[in-house]
Formats: sequence, C-alpha cells, structure tokens
Amino acid sequence: MSFLEQFNQTDWDELKITINSKSANDVEQALKASRLTHDQFLALISPAAEPYVEQLAQKSMQLTRQRFGNTVQLYLPLYLSNKCTNICTYCGFSLENKIRRKTLSMTELENETAAIKAMGFDHILLVTGEAQGTVGIEYFKDVVKKLKPHFSHITMEVQPLEQHEYEELMELGLDAVLVYQETYHRSAYAKQHLRGSKMDFDYRLDTADRLGKAGIDKIGIGALIGLEDWRTDAAMVGLHLDYLERTYWQTRYSLSFPRLRPCEGEFQPVSEISDRQLVQLICAYRLFKPEAELSLSTRESESFRDNVLPLGITTMSAYSKTQPGGYAEDTPSSLEQFAIDDGRRPEAVAEAIKSKGLEAVWKDWDSSYSH
Ligand code: SF4
Repeated sequence: MSFLEQFNQTDWDELKITINSKSANDVEQALKASRLTHDQFLALISPAAEPYVEQLAQKSMQLTRQRFGNTVQLYLPLYLSNKCTNICTYCGFSLENKIRRKTLSMTELENETAAIKAMGFDHILLVTGEAQGTVGIEYFKDVVKKLKPHFSHITMEVQPLEQHEYEELMELGLDAVLVYQETYHRSAYAKQHLRGSKMDFDYRLDTADRLGKAGIDKIGIGALIGLEDWRTDAAMVGLHLDYLERTYWQTRYSLSFPRLRPCEGEFQPVSEISDRQLVQLICAYRLFKPEAELSLSTRESESFRDNVLPLGITTMSAYSKTQPGGYAEDTPSSLEQFAIDDGRRPEAVAEAIKSKGLEAVWKDWDSSYSH
C-alpha cells in the first residue's frame, strides 16, 4: 500500500479529536516509553503535554546526543531560480507577485559556488520555484553535474519529479530531496494552492514514495506551520514518516517544521504556534523518531535557534539568502522567497553552536548503505 492509500483511509477530524482528548496520564506513559507508538506521539504533541515541555526537552536532548553525538550539521540553500508558474498564497515567488524573475546561468552558478565555498560550506540545498519550462530536468542535470565536484552533499527542494528523473539526478550525484506537503488537510491545501501543478495534492503526496523507490539516500518531509491546525499536521507527518521508515528502510529521513514568515504576498497564518509549542513539537518528533534528522532554518530568530539547538536539532542553515544570486552579488531583497530572521554570518552560527558544547560540521554524513 502506498502512503497515499493509507492517507486516504485516515480521517483528519478523528485524528484531531484523538490528539485533543489525550490526558496527563497518557503523556506520562509516553514519556516513560523506550520506543513510542504513533498514538503515544499524539499524546506528546497534545495540549495535555504542554506542562511537560521541560521533561520532553531533557529526554530529547539525551536521545539526540546518543544518536548524533555532539554535532550539528551546517548547510546553505542555493536559490537557482525564483521563476514560478504556480500561485501559492503564502509565498514570495508566487506567480501573481510582481517581482523581478531570475534564473542563474551556468556562469552565475559558478560565481555563487565560489562565494559559498569561500564561506566553508560543503553541503548545499538547491532551491527553485516550480517552472518546468525554465527549471526542468535538463537544467537540474546541468546544475548537479556542475556542482558535484565542489560539494560532498547535494540536496534539492524543487518541484516533484518522476522516479526515473530522480534516478538520473542521483547518478549525477544528487543525495537527498526535500518535499514538504505544506498541509495534509486536503481542502485547506486547495485554498492555498490556486494555480499550477502544485494544485495536485496526490502527486505531491506520492513523491516520497517515488523517491523511496528510486533508492535515494535521504528524504525530507514536513508541513508548513500556519496553514492548518499544527498538531494534526504534525500527526500526519508522523504517520508519513512511520510509513516511509517501514517501507524504504535503507533511506535516511529528515523533518522540518517551518513557520510561515512574511513575504511579498500578504498571507496571514491560519494557525499560530508559540515558541514553547514549537519546542514541544521538536522534542516530540525526537522522542518518536530518534534517528530522524531535525532541521531548523534561518526563518527562526537568532535567540530561538540558539536556545533550541541543543534540544534536538541536528541540521541548520546559516547566512541564507533566499534570492537567486544572493551570495555572489548584492541582489535586492525583493527577489526573496521569504524574509529570514537569523542573519548571522556562518562563523558566528558555528561559534554559537560551540558555545553550547557542540561542534559545527560543514558536511552531511556519508551514505550508510549503498544502493
Ligand atoms: S511555494 Fe513553491 S510552488 Fe508555490 S509559489 Fe512558492 S516557489 Fe512556487
């Protein structure tokens, strides 16, 4: 059974009721468990777990150090293009936003690479809008070929592709793909994705299965916090990860929990999460899935990132520019996908990591299995 089939048998409202009916006793039982069930994970993300955030954080910290040692990986997003043929209400690259569109040429890519290498990064995340005609498979192949000699780990966050396209890119050196469902609530998804291929909820949801079948080293999933009830979306992410780990057990997984940030559009989050609730969520993910990488971007503030990083985070971006060409040139911020909050230089972030007794690692782990 694919995840899509499993998902179609899962009722959002029932899941929400289950989460909200969890008691303090359910939370205490979950905190004692050595390996959590999905139902116990629901207790940890429930309102009943809010008074237990300190205990959650202690346990999460312990599990993270056991599994990942005293390290935090650093990576940098490389925005290749802000062209997009989709309309997503919450994104600065959305088609109807009147911004200057730019796609990096191979020469501009070389300049970006040199600027990024000079900062010390060895792990790169390639990002584009969804514009199949301009930034399609042939462009991605050229980019991966060009970048492979310079980076030990290449991750992509672009439009969902076909399995054979992932396989072609993997042969050229692609290591990982991030594909966030944004929200697992079908009708809320339909309200925010108004035009273009991203309207196809099912095709997007099926992407992680295509990646798993392609045998990729790592898949990242997650929900964008703010589009629907964050607890129920997190419960869906948990179900999705559970399924993927069982089905494609040789693949590694990472989770992200981006909160909506201001951009060129004027989207107001439908559901808000406080800093404390986000800590609760991060630690609950860690207790549920001790092997999953948990990634925190520069959308979050300097102080939040510094406080939360020892609790369960394994991967962070630093000094991100979300406009194409942002590292090599002084490009205008109006080309950005969203505003960043933590604007520190990479060495300052590495120093903050060190001050927590941890070590910044500038590359990703090497693949543990060969496919
Ligand atoms: S979220 Fe992605 S697909 Fe939607 S407008 Fe932004 S870049 Fe395009």
